[in-house]
Amino acid sequence: MMEPWQWDESVWRGKVEKIRAGRSLKPKAWKNGARCAVALSFDSDHESNELRDGGESIGRMSQGQYGNRVGIPRILKTLADNDIKATFFVPAVVGLLYPDEQRRVVAEGHEIGLHGWIHELNTKVPPENERDLHFRAADTLEKITGVRPVGMRTPSWDFSSVTLKIQRELGLLYDSSLMADDDPYEIVENGEPTGIVELPVEWIRDDAVYFNMNRFTALRPYMAPSGVLDIFRREFDRAYEEGGLFLLTMHPHVIGYRSRISILEELIRHIRGHDDVWFATHADIAAYAAEGLRDGK
Ligand SMILES: [Zn+2]
Repeated sequence: MMEPWQWDESVWRGKVEKIRAGRSLKPKAWKNGARCAVALSFDSDHESNELRDGGESIGRMSQGQYGNRVGIPRILKTLADNDIKATFFVPAVVGLLYPDEQRRVVAEGHEIGLHGWIHELNTKVPPENERDLHFRAADTLEKITGVRPVGMRTPSWDFSSVTLKIQRELGLLYDSSLMADDDPYEIVENGEPTGIVELPVEWIRDDAVYFNMNRFTALRPYMAPSGVLDIFRREFDRAYEEGGLFLLTMHPHVIGYRSRISILEELIRHIRGHDDVWFATHADIAAYAAEGLRDGK
């Protein structure tokens, strides 16, 4: 086994160039001349975080159920009060556990995207099984909601060496799991443009990293809600200044609590205080950005 310092240039270059950010798909202006696009997403993981680890903790299952029972209704109310459409990424097993939740999300005008089968880590699944799980997940969500998902957020943003190939086979419009830019870009595989739009994420714009807790390790939330709101607000402010995309990842069992839902409410109020902001689902933003691929705009 060679050490990385012994690798030939072709080895390290090959690893880096496997999947890259290609051309930027940041438009000159967003829909209807908007200056900034805002994409709010909620990863409805619920009990699947515990299930994918093979766990059976009753306590953590109950925390997952909180996501469905309290988090989702509270989030849907906030979105409805503000007339905002958002995207929910749902593991297929969560779809099967809570089909009514998914149908309600779609009925209220939101998008549902792929988020694995049971929140499995793609890099831990053999390639042939990974393909089967993503296809089964797409079929399952379509059967529940009547709408076939057009986008994927890989569980834990864990992207395997075959994930992109499977996304292309599924004919997806976009992925939202990679981090090479603030604004949308086209994913390039081994130098070849794929036509798939990346709507980039970052841990900075994810509620879970600030609030996750594990009773038996040193992992503890260390930030006040106001501190998290401050980071999200700064990310939006600069996106607005630059005419870019502000994309935020949240979780019903993280942001849905009484002390935290106000982060989302205050953030929306702050964003609403700006002219020319386009709130849209990931699918709508990806479709708009993809027009740049066709028109060269
Ligand atoms: Zn997730």
